[in-house]
Amino acid sequence: MALRLYDTLTKDKRDFAPLDRSNVRMYVCGPTVYDFAHIGNARPVIVFDVLFRLLRHLYGADHVKYVRNITDVDDKINDRAARDYPGLPLNEAIRKVTEQTERQFHDDVDALGCLRPSIEPRATEHIGEMRSIIDRLVAGGFAYVAEDHVLFSPQAMNAANSILPRYGSLANRSLDEMIAGARVDVAPYKRDATDFVLWKPSKPGEPSWPSPAGIATQGRPGWHIECSAMAWKHLGETFDIHGGGIDLVFPHHENEVAQSCCAFHTDRMATTWMHNGFLQVEGEKMSKSLGNFVTIRELLGSYKFGGRTWEGAALRYAMLTTHYRQPIDWTGARLLWARNKLVEFFKVAGSQASVDEEEVDERVVAALCDDLNVPHVIVELDRQFLELKHRPEDKGKAAAFHATLKLLGVNLSEFDRQIGRSEENLIEVKIAHRNAARRAKDWTESDRIRDELAAMGVVLKDGKDADGKPITTWEIAR
Ligand code: AMP
Ligand code: ZN
Repeated sequence: MALRLYDTLTKDKRDFAPLDRSNVRMYVCGPTVYDFAHIGNARPVIVFDVLFRLLRHLYGADHVKYVRNITDVDDKINDRAARDYPGLPLNEAIRKVTEQTERQFHDDVDALGCLRPSIEPRATEHIGEMRSIIDRLVAGGFAYVAEDHVLFSPQAMNAANSILPRYGSLANRSLDEMIAGARVDVAPYKRDATDFVLWKPSKPGEPSWPSPAGIATQGRPGWHIECSAMAWKHLGETFDIHGGGIDLVFPHHENEVAQSCCAFHTDRMATTWMHNGFLQVEGEKMSKSLGNFVTIRELLGSYKFGGRTWEGAALRYAMLTTHYRQPIDWTGARLLWARNKLVEFFKVAGSQASVDEEEVDERVVAALCDDLNVPHVIVELDRQFLELKHRPEDKGKAAAFHATLKLLGVNLSEFDRQIGRSEENLIEVKIAHRNAARRAKDWTESDRIRDELAAMGVVLKDGKDADGKPITTWEIAR
């Protein structure tokens, strides 16, 4: 099945041909670890997790390398560290903040059913690679030293007569326009307004490392150089897919391309550039000032969004209902729909063993191969579910249904556990458990569940539906 992906650079869907089929390589910009991740941050994590699963399905799990970095050098981290641990030396405080935030991030995205990437490099462990790229850029005439900063010159890049891409081509902006639109208060050490920082001096007490380019004082890297260095170290000079949210196209990804291509004399950093659309909340931009800012942790735990707390699997399913390149409107109604859907799935298929990914329906793979058309997969999933509902004993149909769920990263048993952990008791799910126990003639378990429900004030009635099939209804005891 030919995989086609939309490329931000060429603005069209193209056949995806990995540079090396036995080692398909993807880099996605990861979190800056200073606070809980918000639900917008969850979008690229989920979107690229689905792509990771698809690539593993197409090329084999051992032939895909997915790198998602951890940005652990940032002013926001320093500020948080100084505020939360005023008694500690700044570097120790920073370590506490970044380690704790990284753990929280992992717990959150694990709950969303995301696989861990192959490697999660930390910026602070790649300072040597950053220095090395910066030295190459200075030697090549693409960067210069001024007042202990190192600056990259997009104008030097575009003046070079070579295979290099033009600066601005990813974001589809011309350098002339950028120069014309530049702000007036440009830092005095910059030769041109469009120059950007590769390296800068550290303020006293801030984390600092030996500088590149013969600078005597200690300093710290700019943000863009971190990703060029980590991608180089783990994926090589050029690789297959680079992803992130749409807001990263400019300047972050444009600058990554500039740094990597000029340092390694290549015509591209990645063959395909993929960007997810933005998430907004109930029709508005999510922001702290509007009071609609919500973290993954809040949705999973204490915070009532749309009237209740949510299971990670339901959040994931809700996120998948909109195509990744479109903006998504995050609403209580959408979450409720997703959750009810999974409850319905669980009632019919929750007790069936999960199956091998190999049994996945070709129509599902075809939809995913069409630039990750997950909404179409969800339609297919509904079709598979209806068939299964009418013939629950059909093992082939069950296998196909479960294989689709697995490719989407939706795990019904995990959903069940999450429901068990969440505050609201789901009577329907308990009934489904009891029915599964009855089918297995496990009367002890089925009685136990009936008693458990009775203790909650729920009375079960076992009967038969119009077709004579067993059916269980319930009511609150009066
Ligand atoms: P940040 O920590 O802000 O650098 O963001 C981490 C990732 O989340 C990046 O890939 C961003 O593009 C993405 N992101 C941030 N906010 C949103 C949002 N509201 N919707 C979708 N993606 C977002
Ligand atoms: Zn990046």
